[in-house]
Amino acid sequence: MAVDLRSRIEALKSRGVEPTLALVRMGERPDDLSYERTAKKRAASLGLSTKPYVLDDLAPQAAVQATLQSINYDKTVHGCLMFRPLPSFLDEKALCNMLSPEKDIDGISLASLASVFTDSSDGFPPCTAQACVEILDFYKIPLVGKHVVVIGRSLVVGKPVSMMLLRRNASVTICHSRTENLPELCRTADIVICAVGRAHAFGKEYFRAGQTVLDVGINFDAAGNLCGDVDFGAVEPVLGPEGAITPVPRGLGGVTTSVTMAHVVQAAEAG
Ligand code: NAP
Repeated sequence: MAVDLRSRIEALKSRGVEPTLALVRMGERPDDLSYERTAKKRAASLGLSTKPYVLDDLAPQAAVQATLQSINYDKTVHGCLMFRPLPSFLDEKALCNMLSPEKDIDGISLASLASVFTDSSDGFPPCTAQACVEILDFYKIPLVGKHVVVIGRSLVVGKPVSMMLLRRNASVTICHSRTENLPELCRTADIVICAVGRAHAFGKEYFRAGQTVLDVGINFDAAGNLCGDVDFGAVEPVLGPEGAITPVPRGLGGVTTSVTMAHVVQAAEAG
């Protein structure tokens, strides 16, 4: 992906287009700062520009609106990544919906999500959901007719990835905190996608040999180490040589960043 992206970025630059990603951050949350550093580093390594917009964590709705409006009008910016969740006193949904669909490279507006849910190719799907599909495609994991259990039903990951896999003719079961018999259900799946946000919540009783497991979770364990939703050490041996699991760190997060960059390039090519 990186080689292809570099050559597409070069092609854009040779016709005077500098592909640029706006990074909108409120306050100094460590998660956001870490994600911002990663995005900037990856962008720089590809030759893609970033433009940070930093607002105070007490900035009112009107200030965030004005920032997004200026990004919408700025012809030198091709995509926008806004770090979320936003502070709870803001109307996050309204702000997400302000972003021009062509710059909404992380699929946060209702227009972008509508495309995902209606099998339209307009706009961009959420990057993490697409990263899941990219990984399955890269490793040629069969999807047609296969049973995928997705744990988590957020609009960031669970719901969009479910729709994207349904579109690819998988049979998808969406699970959540009220799902009964989750371990048994997971063991019936060919592919399990864990997007819950609970450190090591899924142990070996949820899995069987031969499954493909994507761990979307980004958590910290009791010792303060970054970890996923799946208890990797206990689960990997259960999956056996025919199975596979993405680690945390060095799993989905990096692919998500690559997808983000690819979306910016695509937006710049379209613009
Ligand atoms: P979220 O909005 O908090 O949603 C969590 C989902 O998990 C909810 O649907 C919730 O069910 C479900 N859930 C919680 N506890 C559960 C349990 N014990 N059993 C079954 N389901 C349970 O989280 P999110 O934004 O989707 O993010 C999920 C995780 O992915 C987080 O760790 C986040 O940091 C990570 N993430 C990673 C990336 C990446 O690039 N790798 C990107 C985005 C997010 P209810 O709906 O019933 O409450």
